[in-house]
Formats: sequence, C-alpha cells, structure tokens
Amino acid sequence: MKKFQDYADEIYTCSRCGLCQSVCPVFEATGKETTVSRGFFSTLMGVVKGHLKFNKKLSKNINMCLTCNKCNAFCPSGIDASKIITSARAECMEFTPLWKKLILRVFYSKMFLNFAGMVKLYLLFPVLNFTSFGKLIYEFLSPEVKYKKQISSKKSDLKVVVFPGCINKYFNASSLNAMRMLFEKEGIEYTLPDFHCCTMPAYSAGDMDNFQKFARKNLSLIPRDVDYVLFDCASCKHAFELYTRILEGDDLALAKEVYSKCKHINEFLLEENIELPVLSGDVAYHKPCHMDCPDKTIELMTKSGLDITPIEDSCCGSGGLFFIENFTLSNALAKKRAQEIKNVNADAIFTDCPLCRLGLLKGLILSKINKKVLNFIEIVAKKI
Ligand code: SF4
Ligand code: SF4
Repeated sequence: MKKFQDYADEIYTCSRCGLCQSVCPVFEATGKETTVSRGFFSTLMGVVKGHLKFNKKLSKNINMCLTCNKCNAFCPSGIDASKIITSARAECMEFTPLWKKLILRVFYSKMFLNFAGMVKLYLLFPVLNFTSFGKLIYEFLSPEVKYKKQISSKKSDLKVVVFPGCINKYFNASSLNAMRMLFEKEGIEYTLPDFHCCTMPAYSAGDMDNFQKFARKNLSLIPRDVDYVLFDCASCKHAFELYTRILEGDDLALAKEVYSKCKHINEFLLEENIELPVLSGDVAYHKPCHMDCPDKTIELMTKSGLDITPIEDSCCGSGGLFFIENFTLSNALAKKRAQEIKNVNADAIFTDCPLCRLGLLKGLILSKINKKVLNFIEIVAKKI
C-alpha cells in the first residue's frame, strides 16, 4: 500500500492552474483556497519538504475534502486528490477526535451496529417527528418496501451473493428487501453471508489497518463458485474496488478475483436482461460520486419506462463522516442540491447510496421541499 511520502512526485505535478476550483463543491461553498486540491497540495508540499508537520489543525483541514473525485476528473495533470488526501489522513490518525473514533468503533463491531440499528424503534413514535431533524430520521428509517416472500416457478442458473452494506442491513432494509423479492421472483439463488461493514468509513478517515482487516474478512466470506457479488450501494462497491488497490499478495489476488464478479444491481439487471415491470413517471437521478455505472443505470430506468429529467452532477455533501465533521458546511451543500432538484420537474429522486439518500433528504427537508428519495430497485419491487 502506498504511503503519503510515496505521493511526493504526484503532489509536485500540480501546476497550480486552479482549474480544480471550478468543480470543487467545498471551494464553491467556502471560497477558501485551503479547502480545494490546489490548496491541500500547497500545504502537503510543505509536509513533503519537511517545512510543516502533520498536526491537529492540519488534520482538521484535510478532513474538509469530500473525496468526491470531482477535481480528479477535471485536473489537467490527472492528479487523484482523493487518494493523496486519504494517505495524508492515514498519517493524521493520531489526531482523530474521540467522537470520530467512537463512530468508527461502531462500524467495526456487528454488536455495536446491531445496537445502533435499534434507532429504528424511533419509527414507533412518529410523534417525535416534529422537528426537521426528527422528520429526517423518520424518513430515513422508514422502509418503502417490506419484505414479502415471492413464490415463482421460474428457475435461473445464476447464483449470486448480496452485499447489503451496514445501513441497509441494520437501519433500513428497504432496498435489500426489494432485491431479495426480485431474486425470488426470478428464481435466482442468492445468499447473504454475515458480512462486516465494507469499511468505507475507515478508509475515508484514513484508518488503513482496520480497512485492510475488514476487507480480508469480507472477501473470505464470499463463496468462490458464485456468478456475481451484487450491491445496491455505490460506495460499498467502490470499497471492493479499493480492496484491489490496497491489499497485497494472496489477499490482492482474491480481491481481484472477487471484484471481477462485483456488479451494482442496476448493471446486473440491465446486462442479464432481467424482465422488469413497466414503470412511468418523471424522476431525477442523483449520481453518487462513487457510482461507476451511471450510464447503465439511466439506460435501465429509461428502458423500464421512466422519464429521466437531467440534473446537474453535484455532490450531496455527505461524504464519509464529512456530514458530521463539517456539519454546517454539509447542510449548506445539501440545501444547494435540494434547490437544484426543486428546479427540475421530477416526482421523485433516485439514487444508489444510502448516505446520498440521507444527504438529499436532509437538503429537501431543510428546504421544505416534499419529494421522495428512493433506490430504483425499490420501485421495481413495489410493482411485482
Ligand atoms: S486542477 Fe490539478 S493541476 Fe490544476 S491546481 Fe488543481 S490539482 Fe493542481
Ligand atoms: S475531492 Fe471533491 S471535495 Fe475534495 S478537493 Fe476534490 S473536488 Fe474538492
């Protein structure tokens, strides 16, 4: 695994053109040079040269990046800022605040996740739903699809593993329910191993030791004879791609083998030509920053009969633990996204990451805009 110092040459290749400023959502909101890749690289160059040392203040600063990759796609020097910033965060682990360490602990333990998942009991008390925050929790936890066993005469040869991710498994199982119902209807054999968190929160915090530890555990739980490993969360799938960049030796070989079978559910439905119900309506699609098959997703939704309203490709402002760590800034970004959504003619917003759903719901609720945020598969399951 490459360490921060290994990126010295890449940091030096920044030509200081400033083009990253035009796409960085954080820079757009703050207007501060210190919160965009060019500014991060100026500071990090100081560390590389030995003029600066990592410290608490610097750690706080580099955690103001959403790792959204918007600048990477635009940078004429082709610098992957997210990768470099994450490696710098790894060097800053000793300055991680206690609250963040505690949240990461929750993601590292199924027992704590089960315990945290009890927040679902909130749904029993809709009366609590009288503040924006209460409404947000209520909406976020309310399942659109409740699981109903499907009996079907269809029999598919496909064998799949489902990676549900922590939010879908412990907090709101709606899209997991939807996937299970669709597989049962299509006669697709599926298994749900008792996975750990994909550990994206650890990665984005720079906790590489735990990221690698849980990556190995998750990979070991996947039977070798399956055709696909399926995800309904773009970020969990991205984590499996990161396994192939960060693990080494035999672990790397296994990560690559598994990743060759990984697909987002939308990509799977399109490529396997799974018969879907006919849908109708105007919807907008929010592409999560880590979504690797947005074109196939739009093709699938269009094929099913939905009218997709174009919407700007911008970040919801959640990004790992950014939405807690940079609370006010994250809210401002979410509200800006909500205004972009308000300006288009769409009955609902579709997205593919529970954290994006949280960010979008937050923006909509804070802006008093009443629209649902769903995963495409949930609408499919409601029609079967
Ligand atoms: S766009 Fe790339 S090369 Fe230009 S200032 Fe930003 S990081 Fe540096
Ligand atoms: S990754 Fe996103 S938030 Fe971070 S510097 Fe680049 S554009 Fe800004």
